[in-house]
Amino acid sequence: MTTRIGITGAAGRMGRILTGAIGLAVDQLQLTGAIERPESSLLGVDSGELAGQGKNGVPVVGSLEQVIDEIDVLIDFTVPGATMANVALCAEHGVAMVIGTTGFTPQQQGAIEQAAGKMPVCKATNFSTGVNVCFQLLDMAARVLGDDVDIEIYEAHHRHKIDAPSGTALSMGEVVANALGRDLQKVAVYGREGQTGARERETIGFATVRAGDIVGDHTVTFAAEGERVEITHKASSRMSFARGAVRAAGWLAGQDAGLYDMRDVLGFNKAD
Ligand code: NAD
Repeated sequence: MTTRIGITGAAGRMGRILTGAIGLAVDQLQLTGAIERPESSLLGVDSGELAGQGKNGVPVVGSLEQVIDEIDVLIDFTVPGATMANVALCAEHGVAMVIGTTGFTPQQQGAIEQAAGKMPVCKATNFSTGVNVCFQLLDMAARVLGDDVDIEIYEAHHRHKIDAPSGTALSMGEVVANALGRDLQKVAVYGREGQTGARERETIGFATVRAGDIVGDHTVTFAAEGERVEITHKASSRMSFARGAVRAAGWLAGQDAGLYDMRDVLGFNKAD
């Protein structure tokens, strides 16, 4: 059975690549909606051409309402405000969502969890398969190295990124904190300056770089006396995120209502 896909933020950096990734998917997926801001100058433009491909016959429209009845799964890589409006509409219509947008407040996060009681939602701060493998490695490293190491998280992204630290860095922090029974809200240190005093073992430090066209680098360092372990992921193309998000969309079409993440899609969260 074909799954009908909508992409919102269709003219964005991710939106254009997602449009291309749908054509490469192994699942039966068909793009049936491409949505942008109502004031976008690109309304009416063919989304395939916009993505640098041939015409696909799916024009960019200025509201999700216009196409909501023609899609089974909405892929949303936009901004938190737009995503929240889409969550409400998709919940009303029972349309599944793949959410890649980052930078939600705890309240917005809570509203997404509540809406996921009405439709399947796959939300991930990073849809690349490699990063999700790193989450598994981080969990293992944190459990084994435990309280004998200092843990620091470094991330670097392109100059246009509007939130910091990256959603992926925060997810890495959560994986490590959960493995060690720590509350990330209490132990996170976001940047250091001046007379900081000596480092406390419990803390998890974050360092952020914004520069040029870096697609996304993350390193978690576990540093002990005499040795350190570093787990690094480097994205060199947004296609890694897009392929994961499209894979999640195909997987989500067969799921019950609920909140899932990329680890569910990859089968890491199975009990067996
Ligand atoms: P971008 O600014 O290039 O694209 C965002 C697009 O959303 C723009 O085209 C904008 O016009 C559109 N938009 C804004 N409001 C809208 C609305 N109300 N309706 C429809 N479209 C609207 O940004 P980007 O680099 O593509 O990133 C988008 C989001 O995805 C960011 O939050 C980023 O952090 C996140 N991201 C997540 C992953 C992941 O794997 N989860 C990977 C890359 C980026």
